[in-house]
Amino acid sequence: MRPPSPALRAADLDRADPLARFRAEFFLPPGQIYLDGNSLGLLSRRAEASLLRALDEWRTLGINGWSDATPPWLTLADGLAAQLAALVGAAPDEIAVTSSTTTNLHQLLATLFDPAAPRKIILADSLNFASDAHALGSHLRQRGLDPAAHRREVPSRDGRTLREDDIIAAMTPDVQLALLPAVLYVSGQLLDVGRVTRAAHARGIVIGWDCSHSVGAVPHDFGRDGVDFACWCSYKYLNAGPGATGALYLNRRHFARAPGLAGWWGVRKDRRFALAHEHEPAAGAEALHIGTPHLLSLAPLQGALEIFAEAGGVAPLRAKSLALTSCFMELIDTELAEFGCSVANPREPERSGGHVALAHPDAWRLAQALKAAGVIPDFRPPDIIRLAPTALYNTFADCAETVARLKQIFLTRAHEKFPARRALVT
Ligand SMILES: *Cc1c(COP(=O)(O)O)cnc(C)c1O
Repeated sequence: MRPPSPALRAADLDRADPLARFRAEFFLPPGQIYLDGNSLGLLSRRAEASLLRALDEWRTLGINGWSDATPPWLTLADGLAAQLAALVGAAPDEIAVTSSTTTNLHQLLATLFDPAAPRKIILADSLNFASDAHALGSHLRQRGLDPAAHRREVPSRDGRTLREDDIIAAMTPDVQLALLPAVLYVSGQLLDVGRVTRAAHARGIVIGWDCSHSVGAVPHDFGRDGVDFACWCSYKYLNAGPGATGALYLNRRHFARAPGLAGWWGVRKDRRFALAHEHEPAAGAEALHIGTPHLLSLAPLQGALEIFAEAGGVAPLRAKSLALTSCFMELIDTELAEFGCSVANPREPERSGGHVALAHPDAWRLAQALKAAGVIPDFRPPDIIRLAPTALYNTFADCAETVARLKQIFLTRAHEKFPARRALVT
């Protein structure tokens, strides 16, 4: 007997999927297979409803929305912090839902990095998203330190992944603080947050994690791991919309630190409207708020997080995500290897995040051809197509169909119609 076709197997897996009902909560782009949820998660009916509610409250309540909306705009971010805390293994008062990833990173550096301490090196890596490197560099300059001398980037041996041993070896006694991505945005490698954090602490180093590519897809337990700080966005796997308000985590052992970047929204709630020029910081991570919350970028997060609560948190989502990516990788191996495709992300579940990184020398043109064929992936130079089957709204059939369409592209050489990337850059 022949083994069942990928499409039939995928259909079986979809029938057995306990999270299948959540797909109907989302607005799927008509006629397309959306695999870019690691860059911009899709709109859900819940997120739409909470955003429209905020608009409605603004329309009907005006200024009174701060106190009379449900929940009042004044405390909306606090409720969301409590919900996010459950997703990352933190206490609610260790989370602030505010600003963007990059701004939050600046705030955390301004709060935790001491330029006068004898140890002055900030340890980072060579593969992190550019904005994190910009924040580290400009922060050091602002503190009178030269990034060329004080920012140390752990190199990658293969251009795609990092070795925890290399990171730990770079933790010399001149390092004060380390910042690393939990999941690398190109290859999807998941670092061992617990092990690297323990190694940092054993060497007296304060360590933080950018979790933009992991929150909502990979379970975290910041409390168990003893992480010092973290930041992340909510428009990727959390599905709160383009430019939605991000969040930060500050371990309670640092609560005595004064906020590096102070503003009136970080003042104790009962003193905020006293408007004294003396800054009386709120207790906990709340002190790291700066200005008025961006209400309309915060409101969709409310609906978006309801779905995570109903799904039972990140654990079931992670289980499905691993099954989806494993199905995807198997199909790439069996159906596409002969056309020069390979899997560039680590395959072990404990080392992989939420997306598959497919490598091919002609990745740019293949990504264009995939879009023309109704599949939305994204391309990262030089040769990676990222395919993120998200647990809340993608199916095993999406993975099988994507591989089938990619195979068809190779067989008909459809990608060769598209201009090479070089031509677009000149
Ligand atoms: C998505 C992402 C960002 C984005 O930062 P913004 O300030 O939200 O634009 C930053 N760092 C990493 C690692 C990311 O994945």
